[in-house]
Amino acid sequence: MPATSKQDYYEVLSISRDAKADDIRKSYRKLARKYHPDLNPGDKAAEERFKKVQEAYDVLSDSKKRQVYDQYGFYSDNIPPGGPGAGPGAGAYGPGMGFGGFDFSEFADHGAGPGTGPGGAGFRDIFSQFFGGRRGERPATVPEKGSDLEYGLNIDFWESIRGTQVRLNISRQETCDTCGGSGTVGGATTVCPECDGTGNVTQMAGAMKFSLTCPRCDGKGRLRNACPTCHGDGRLSKPDVVEVRIPPGVQAGSRLRVGGKGNSGRNGAPAGDLYITVRVEPHPFFERDGDDIHIRVPVSVSEAGLGAKIEVPTIDGRALLKVPQGTQNLQKFRLREKGVMNSRKNKRGDEIVEVVIQAPNVHDERTKELLRELAQVNAEDPRKEMWSKV
Ligand SMILES: [Zn+2]
Ligand SMILES: [Zn+2]
Repeated sequence: MPATSKQDYYEVLSISRDAKADDIRKSYRKLARKYHPDLNPGDKAAEERFKKVQEAYDVLSDSKKRQVYDQYGFYSDNIPPGGPGAGPGAGAYGPGMGFGGFDFSEFADHGAGPGTGPGGAGFRDIFSQFFGGRRGERPATVPEKGSDLEYGLNIDFWESIRGTQVRLNISRQETCDTCGGSGTVGGATTVCPECDGTGNVTQMAGAMKFSLTCPRCDGKGRLRNACPTCHGDGRLSKPDVVEVRIPPGVQAGSRLRVGGKGNSGRNGAPAGDLYITVRVEPHPFFERDGDDIHIRVPVSVSEAGLGAKIEVPTIDGRALLKVPQGTQNLQKFRLREKGVMNSRKNKRGDEIVEVVIQAPNVHDERTKELLRELAQVNAEDPRKEMWSKV
C-alpha cells in the first residue's frame, strides 16, 4: 500500500510544520506562479501540482482548518476543531461513529468491504466526501448550461423596413464528436497517480493508518485518457452557419434571440442562446423615428405661395402631397400610415414631410421683372416681426 505523501500539505507547500501565516502565503504565491496552468500549457503534472498547492493553501491558510489538519492528518468540514467532543458536530455521525470513540482498526482491514462493519458504509461516505469534495475540481457529471453568444449584424435601410433573411457565419462551442462531450476516450488508460495503480490509498489519522478505496479512480487503479480532440474539455470551437430571419420593421439597436444557438452545454445541459444586435445603415434622406419616417422635401416659391399637389418619396414609392396655399418654410405635413409597419401594433407609422422652400434661380430678365413686380405688390418687410421684438 503506497502511503499518500502527496497529502502532506506542509511538504506540498515546502514549509515547516511551525510555519507562520506569512511564510505560508509567500510559499503559496511562489508555487502557484510556478505551476500555474497558464504558464505550463498542456503540462498535466504541473496542473496536478497546482491543484495540490491550492488545496494545501486552502487548509493551512485557515487557522481552524489547519488545527484540524494538524490533529488528524487530513481536513474535512465535518470535523470540529479542538478535537472530538469539543465541537457541536461531535457525535453527528450516529452512535459509535464519533471520531473519539471510533475504532479505526475496523477499517484498516479493507478486505472486509464497505458496509460490513458497524456503521461502515456511513464512514466510507464521509471519507469519500473528504477526498472527493476537497479537490476544487468541477465534477465531471454536473450539467452546465452553455454560455450565450453575441453577434453584431449590419443591414441596410431597406432590409430593416422589409425584413430579410441572413446567413451568419459564427464560431460556437459544440459537443466534441470524438468523446461525445465526456472529455475522455475509452480504451487506452493511464495509471492513476493518486494510488499508483493499486486502487487504494492510505490515510494517516493522528498516529493511525487506514486504507481507503482511491477516490480518484474509484478503486480501478487506472484513469481514462483525456480526449485528444478536445483535450478533455468535451467541447470544441467550430464554425457554424445560422440562418436568421430579420422581421420587417426591425429597429436599429434591436437584440434578436436565436434560441439554442449559443455554446453547447455540458453533460446534457441545454445550449446557450445567440443574440443578434441589429445595426442599420442610414438612408440618404429617409430618417426613421420609431415607426415614423421623416423626410425633408424642397418646394419652389410658387408651389408654396400658390399651393400645389406635389409628389414626395415614401417607402412605398411616390405619394401625392397637397401643399396648401401660403405654405411656410419648414412647415410639416403628415402622410398617414406611410411609415413603418409595426407588427406588434399591426399598424403603420406615418411619414412626416418637412417642406424646404427654395429661392428661384434667376438667370433671365423675365424672371427678374416678375420678382420686381412681386416685390412692389408684396412690399411687406419679412423681418417686421423680428424688429418688433428687438
Ligand atoms: Zn487511484
Ligand atoms: Zn473530446
